Amino acid sequence: MPRINGERLLEDLRRIADFGRYQTGVHRPHLSPQDVESRRWLAGRMKEAGLEPVIDGIGNVIGRSPKSGPRLLMGSHTDTQPRGGWLDGVMGVIYGLEVARALAEDPDTSHLAVDVASWADEEGHWGQMMGSRSFVGRLAETDIDKARHRDDGSAMRDALKAAGLDKMPRIELEEGRYRCYLEAHIEQGGVLEHTGKRIGVVTAIVGIYQYRLTFSGIQNHAGTTPMPIRKDAGVAMMRLYNEVMDRFPALAGPRSVWTVGKMSVEPGAPAIIPGKAEMVLQFRDADVEVLKRLESCLLEIVEAHGKRGPCTIDCVNLSRTMPAPMEERLQEAFDEAAEKHAAGDHMRMPSGAGHDAQILAQRLPAAMMFVPSIGGISHHFTENTADADIVLGCQVFADAAAKILKGN
Ligand SMILES: [Zn+2]
Repeated sequence: MPRINGERLLEDLRRIADFGRYQTGVHRPHLSPQDVESRRWLAGRMKEAGLEPVIDGIGNVIGRSPKSGPRLLMGSHTDTQPRGGWLDGVMGVIYGLEVARALAEDPDTSHLAVDVASWADEEGHWGQMMGSRSFVGRLAETDIDKARHRDDGSAMRDALKAAGLDKMPRIELEEGRYRCYLEAHIEQGGVLEHTGKRIGVVTAIVGIYQYRLTFSGIQNHAGTTPMPIRKDAGVAMMRLYNEVMDRFPALAGPRSVWTVGKMSVEPGAPAIIPGKAEMVLQFRDADVEVLKRLESCLLEIVEAHGKRGPCTIDCVNLSRTMPAPMEERLQEAFDEAAEKHAAGDHMRMPSGAGHDAQILAQRLPAAMMFVPSIGGISHHFTENTADADIVLGCQVFADAAAKILKGN
């Protein structure tokens, strides 16, 4: 089995963190000057590893193996959240690079072919996972025409031009080229740390349903309007949210989560009874049946509260992304490699966060592996993972990849 070089892996991770370094983390949104620079650096490292790199028309960096025979595709993303962490995404890309090098160095595995990818804009500055969607053929030219930066509203076409990528073709998945897609990522949560495990084998990437609930009442004076005749939209919103919190637990799966991360009342002044209130509720689970149960419960609550009054409720579905199950035989390859290098210290778990693997899974058998996040922190510049866990994860990943490629 291939032996990865832990020092080389960590050095590459530290080097790419220089592009957009922010305190102990990184600020490298897709197509920012630092992002474009990091893509060129990555392409250079791929070339040194014997791959043939291309940066395509959406910003994907794909290092293709010149070797023939069955191939694996591995990757993740190198763009980051604003002032994000140094490992989110990029760790999986550098794992791919290190695995390509380790396979090539071992006479036993040097004939095996892996392609390595850094998918563009996973963090959604321009759209939703535009790079991997482009690769699987689910992104139209008009989607790119329309794409605007979520912060400053600038056009993605202009940013691609500034990066010198506007004339580059977009690379699409070649039918039959790959056996499967593998992605490694930091967990971005605290489950591995809390259970004392070092490797997580992902069973499925959760689906996410989102609803916007708008409550309409009557705006009035907070001092002169008696309680019995008020139509307080804020109260209506909180009562409904309370009932969601009371009823969801009985219907939820063991790993279901639900969140109101956005809530507002209008006009939002201490002496005014809110005439309008709005919240966005999202819920996530790896099982679509659970999502459907939670959804019908929500709709029931909305109907009952709407009938009872005194406020009216408008309920709009914003999105439904389906759970993406990971391929069982690939999970077994990860289990086995993990058992070899970290006996008893691995577990199966769903991914509560979205990842490029859910897009790739639309066209290829896909699997994911996690390493622990210290304190469960991510999307923050303090995000970190112990060096020993980063190195262990890569060795497990390399073993699993070799086993899958050898097909036994
Ligand atoms: Zn990520």
